[in-house]
Amino acid sequence: MEENSSLVDELSAWDKKHFLHPTSPIQQQQDLGPAFIFTEGKGVYLHDLLGKKVIDGMSSLWNVNIGHGREELGLIASDQMTKLAFTSNFATFSNEPAIRLAKKLSDISPGNLQATFFTSGGSEANDTAYKLARHYWMLKGQNNRKKIISRTKSYHGVAIGSTSATGLKPFRDFTNSLAPDFLHVDNFSSQALRDLIEKEGPETIAAFIAEPVQGAGGVHIAPENYFKEVKEICEEYGVLFITDEVITGFGRTGKYFGIEHYGVTPDLMCFAKGVTSGYAQLGGVMLSSDIYQAFTEMSKGTLLHGYTYSGHPVACAVALKNIEIIESEHLIANANQLGNELLKGLQNVQNKCGIVGEVRGLGLMGAVEIVKNKSSQERYTNPVAPLIVSAAAKNGLICRSVVFDGQDTLVFAPPLSINKEELYSLVQILTESILSIEGTY
Ligand code: PMP
Repeated sequence: MEENSSLVDELSAWDKKHFLHPTSPIQQQQDLGPAFIFTEGKGVYLHDLLGKKVIDGMSSLWNVNIGHGREELGLIASDQMTKLAFTSNFATFSNEPAIRLAKKLSDISPGNLQATFFTSGGSEANDTAYKLARHYWMLKGQNNRKKIISRTKSYHGVAIGSTSATGLKPFRDFTNSLAPDFLHVDNFSSQALRDLIEKEGPETIAAFIAEPVQGAGGVHIAPENYFKEVKEICEEYGVLFITDEVITGFGRTGKYFGIEHYGVTPDLMCFAKGVTSGYAQLGGVMLSSDIYQAFTEMSKGTLLHGYTYSGHPVACAVALKNIEIIESEHLIANANQLGNELLKGLQNVQNKCGIVGEVRGLGLMGAVEIVKNKSSQERYTNPVAPLIVSAAAKNGLICRSVVFDGQDTLVFAPPLSINKEELYSLVQILTESILSIEGTY
């Protein structure tokens, strides 16, 4: 692959000059260019233009659940694209893959979620959920219910509504004007939710939104009773409960949807990422039968919310095949089993490395806290996790650091298709990478 090095130089120069990367350290990109120019993927592995092979320990962006390079998805996309690449779903037009997917989603989702509104991704899904929740209250004659409550370590995307809902402050501070009527509450305190609803007046609150496991915020797992308490509070005050399953959906946590760990059901459920394992752009919001009924029976006018690509036939066909693979290859059970192995592996890392504090995980979502001092859990002044991420990338593992709110955390989310051997090599590379950095500190 040495022969590719001049191509890499040329592409790197164009990358720096013409490609404004999403969620990226601009100065680093300008100084160093792309760390990898990926060309191929197979299973849990990615290959770059220089022939380097790495384990995709993040399923790219928590989304490539079935792993890379599945020909079936390419074939189904090609087939659907050739037959009917696109048609509108506005008004009363429809298409078969979208109908079949909406039906399938109602079969596999928790509680009485019945109908789906499709989007192209998670941010659009969440923005849609806020608008549909508010419109529902308008239909019910409660026009004052417009405030949306979310949590301080949450990530809900980057559309203006979703940025406003996102609790992680740096994302909100990136812009100097946000949407009104978004409120934030202490991360895992159900009492704080109750206090906020009472302070604001329940008649002003439309919905509460939460990720079953917080992903981008650092893989934070709620205390056991938290969601039960939260759901009770929502019911008591008539507040809609929205789960953001953009990361936790489609098997990531070892159940179909993350909220199933907690024995409660949402009124609205947002999803994206794993619905297609990233093979096509798709997201959506599911509505409970009560909410759907309000829309279908009480709406007199037009539902004035719709994206050109809502229910895109190719994306929906890809999603159906992806879900078929998740089911036929028992990938949710695998996520459960291998999730236990991941946690054990991270505990081994903790035993072997002097700078690893808490480790945690649920299914195939895991986190490792980097600390200066194990017994006091004191942190380094400057985060060390990003250095470990760079070392791991050199050693053949992609993982991610989270440094918001004084955190110094590594997070992991390998494909649900990972096997034991691959998982052990992930853990081994991680251990070597942490030890190599530890030695220099
Ligand atoms: N919600 C959650 C929980 C997410 O993790 C993300 C993306 N990481 C989003 C919403 C936004 O999704 P998208 O990037 O597809 O807009």
